[in-house]
Amino acid sequence: AEEALRQAQKMEAVGQLTGGIAHDFNNLMSVVLSGLSLLERRLAKGDSDVGKYVAAARDGANRAVKLTQRLLAFSRRQPLSPQALDANQMVSEMSEILRRTLGETIHLETVLAGGLWKAHVDANQLENAVINLAVNARDAMPGGGSLTIETANCHLDDVYAVEHEIRAGQYVMVAVTDSGSGMTPDVMAKAFEPFFTTKGVGKGTGLGLSQVFGFVKQSGGHLKIYSELNHGTTVKIYLPRLYGASKPARIAVDDMAASGSSSE
Ligand code: ADP
Repeated sequence: AEEALRQAQKMEAVGQLTGGIAHDFNNLMSVVLSGLSLLERRLAKGDSDVGKYVAAARDGANRAVKLTQRLLAFSRRQPLSPQALDANQMVSEMSEILRRTLGETIHLETVLAGGLWKAHVDANQLENAVINLAVNARDAMPGGGSLTIETANCHLDDVYAVEHEIRAGQYVMVAVTDSGSGMTPDVMAKAFEPFFTTKGVGKGTGLGLSQVFGFVKQSGGHLKIYSELNHGTTVKIYLPRLYGASKPARIAVDDMAASGSSSE
């Protein structure tokens, strides 16, 4: 629990720092961009090839603006917009982009639960999370392998909930399993820390898992990771179930077998 708190505080600090920088950088870029478009308009009158350089500078500035938007999304200055989400449908719709991400040597399998509950979650952010996990899985399987995405309805019981400091109740699980390298206990302990990466300079940012972690926590969900060296890794994301107009049912341990019963 203390570890989770430390983690959350670290994320908060990184978020504030990144958000602050991204925000200021964005403002500076808009100054650069308006200067460049003024310059372009002046140049349009003559026919010097300086225009080429100005256009290149404008492209660069536009790319920088896109980058800061991603940083802002990461730092959560952009609020989540949770909605009713059918995770099965999302996974199905993502299969094309996932196949492209994974390449030809990795087999993609989906195991989608029938009668899956709706989740209450930001669809774009969940998509990003799944892509992040798929990229990590791909990187852990340089020689090929398989990636399995599974969905399920889950009751997290009171004992488990107290232990993990979450709300007991009903969740929609999305699990991503790879048959890759797995992690040593050492790597596993640090995997969620912002900027921790084993992928080397220019390859990993070390922000993937901390981003996923932050999003899941902020959504009122829960995340669990299992990894065995040389066998593979599973990341399970638990997303809060969307209820109708009624209050969420709280499932007590003893009631778990009796469907529909509620302790509230
Ligand atoms: P990055 O992918 O940029 O390194 P992440 O935060 O996503 O950043 O991951 C941190 C580290 O955790 C990775 O560098 C890798 O060592 C380890 N890791 C993450 N996912 C997996 C996986 N599926 N299999 C093996 N190792 C993983």
